[in-house]
Amino acid sequence: MKNNYYEILGVTPDSDMCEIKSAYRTLARKYHPDMTGGNINKFKEINEAYETLSNERKRMQYNMLFGFYKKAAAPPPPRQETPPPRKEPEQPKTSPKKEKVMPQNGSDLTAEVSITMSEAKYGTSKVVNILHTELCPKCKGRKFINGSHCSECNGTGEKSRRRKLTVTVPPDIKNETRLRIKGEGNVGKNGGQNGDLFLVIKIESNKNVRYEGKTVHYDVPLEPHEAVLGTSVSLKTLEGNILIKIPPRTKSGQKFRIQQNVRGDVFEILVTVHIEIPPYLSHDEIKLYEKLKKMSNGSLRENFINE
Ligand SMILES: [Zn+2]
Repeated sequence: MKNNYYEILGVTPDSDMCEIKSAYRTLARKYHPDMTGGNINKFKEINEAYETLSNERKRMQYNMLFGFYKKAAAPPPPRQETPPPRKEPEQPKTSPKKEKVMPQNGSDLTAEVSITMSEAKYGTSKVVNILHTELCPKCKGRKFINGSHCSECNGTGEKSRRRKLTVTVPPDIKNETRLRIKGEGNVGKNGGQNGDLFLVIKIESNKNVRYEGKTVHYDVPLEPHEAVLGTSVSLKTLEGNILIKIPPRTKSGQKFRIQQNVRGDVFEILVTVHIEIPPYLSHDEIKLYEKLKKMSNGSLRENFINE
C-alpha cells in the first residue's frame, strides 16, 4: 500500500481541519503542474488525500477502514464552512459503523475422534489437535495498523493456529455422536461470536465388530453342527450382552438383523454368520464326521457344473 492520506499531507490523525487545510494549500502550491518543480502525480495524490480528509464523513470512514482510531471524531470544521447545524454532524457517527463493522460470526469446525469400544462404554478423555483461526495478535483483528495492512496477518485480521484441546468423552457414547465444544471453531470478527467445534465420535472397529453410522456389524463364526442344528449366540454390545437365536439349517453368510432402542434412538445390529472349522477336533469328532460321510448321498453339488 502507498502512503496513507495523513502522511501524504504531512499531518497526523489528530490534526484538525485548519492544519489539514493549510498543509494542503502549501503542498498544492508546491507541486502544482504549472509551477516550476511541479509534479502532476504528486499533485493528484495530494488532492485525493485532501478530498477525503477535508470531508468529515469520508475522513471518519477512512479512519475506521484503515485503523486510525486515535481520536477518530473529527474536530469542528473551520468557520466559513460551518454547515447548517442540522444533518451533517449526525451522519458520520452512525453510518460508517453500520457499513464497515458488521459483526461476523466465525464458522463451525468438525473433527473426528477415534475411541475404542471400551472407551465408548466407560468414557474417556482425549487430546485433540485442531486448526482454527484466532484474532491476529498484532492488529487484534483490525486488519490495518496506522493505515497499512497488518504485516502479521496480511490484513486479514486473523491467524490460523493449531490448538490442543482435552475433551471429555462421556460413558455410553454412540458411534458418530457429535460433541459440541462451544467457541472453539473459527474466530468471529467485529464482535461476532466464535464458531463451535463439533467432534464426531468414531468407535474403532476390530476383527469381528465394525461400526458404520448407526449400524454395528458383527462377524460371528459358527461350528458346522451349530449351523445344522441351530444354536444361540451371546454378543457383547455397548448396551450389555444380547442373545441371538440361530435357527437350524443356517447357511454361511446368512445375515440377522436386530434393532436396539437406546434412549429413543434406534440402532441396528447386523450379524453375519460364517461356518468355520474349529482349530482342534478330537478323535471322536473325526470319527463322527467319517460316519456322516458314509451316510451322505453327496447331493449338494448335483447340479453344480450344469448350471
Ligand atoms: Zn493483523
